[in-house]
Amino acid sequence: MTILVLGSANADLVVTVPHRPRAGETVLGGDVRTLPGGKGANTAVAAARLGARVVFAGAVGRDGHGELLRTSLADAGVDTAHLRTSDRPTGTAHITVTPDGENSIVVSPGANADLRESDIDALPWQDVATLVCSLEIPVPVVCHAIRTAAGHGVRAVLNLSPVTDLPDDVLPLLDPLVVNEQEAEALGTSVDVPRATVITLGADGARLGDRRFPASRVRAVDTTGAGDAFTGALVRELDQGVTLPEAVGFAIRAAAWSVTREGAQPSYPDLADLSGERGRPAVRRPG
Ligand code: AMP
Repeated sequence: MTILVLGSANADLVVTVPHRPRAGETVLGGDVRTLPGGKGANTAVAAARLGARVVFAGAVGRDGHGELLRTSLADAGVDTAHLRTSDRPTGTAHITVTPDGENSIVVSPGANADLRESDIDALPWQDVATLVCSLEIPVPVVCHAIRTAAGHGVRAVLNLSPVTDLPDDVLPLLDPLVVNEQEAEALGTSVDVPRATVITLGADGARLGDRRFPASRVRAVDTTGAGDAFTGALVRELDQGVTLPEAVGFAIRAAAWSVTREGAQPSYPDLADLSGERGRPAVRRPG
């Protein structure tokens, strides 16, 4: 079965700074690190590394950042035939990290904003079993993809991040909707509308309806992209035909692995990592 991931592809430009600059202030930071990112590309890489057959639909520019994203996706085994090259620059996330580990992020969508409904119509729907979308791309394009999936009998999963209002007809098509705690709060009672809603709770794991799934206890090094690791692993399992609660249990283990490693895509596990063949994530010592 094929998983179609529709979403953003960004170059993450990461600089450590002693403190966040005030208006008008210049601060000297460390060397810039340029890493492949974007919620869509992260999710695609997470699912592919776990053995899923994944097609990524998105857009990058005609530039070095676009090449970085193409290579990262292809190295993970993702089919990039539907990654379009746009005349706009590849999306970038400008990330400053302070010594306390807090991030401040400015996203410049660039080519991601150039995705259109016609891109969705050109996708190989007959081969797709599961669609997974996230935001950072135009909302009408995401809605069109979810409606198209429904028309083809394709399961639609949405990670509604960053959180945004959706037309009334779209939420009931989702199975499941995936949001974090803050996004769930912003949505209010709307989280009850999809067929199922998974709420991720960071170090506390996840919730599916009334059922709580505790997180694996690990020494967290970097939680960047943990939600995308969770969603990628979740759809990989759903695509294998397991139940949603079983898929949530697996996604929690994959996301926990990812927070024990630096970065987003470089931190995602394969099946051997999760089966313990290559060691387990570092366990947090009590106290
Ligand atoms: P979040 O987007 O922060 O809710 O995190 C998504 C998923 O990543 C959670 O549901 C957990 O499975 C995992 N996760 C995030 N932070 C941690 C942590 N500190 N320890 C273990 N797992 C984590």
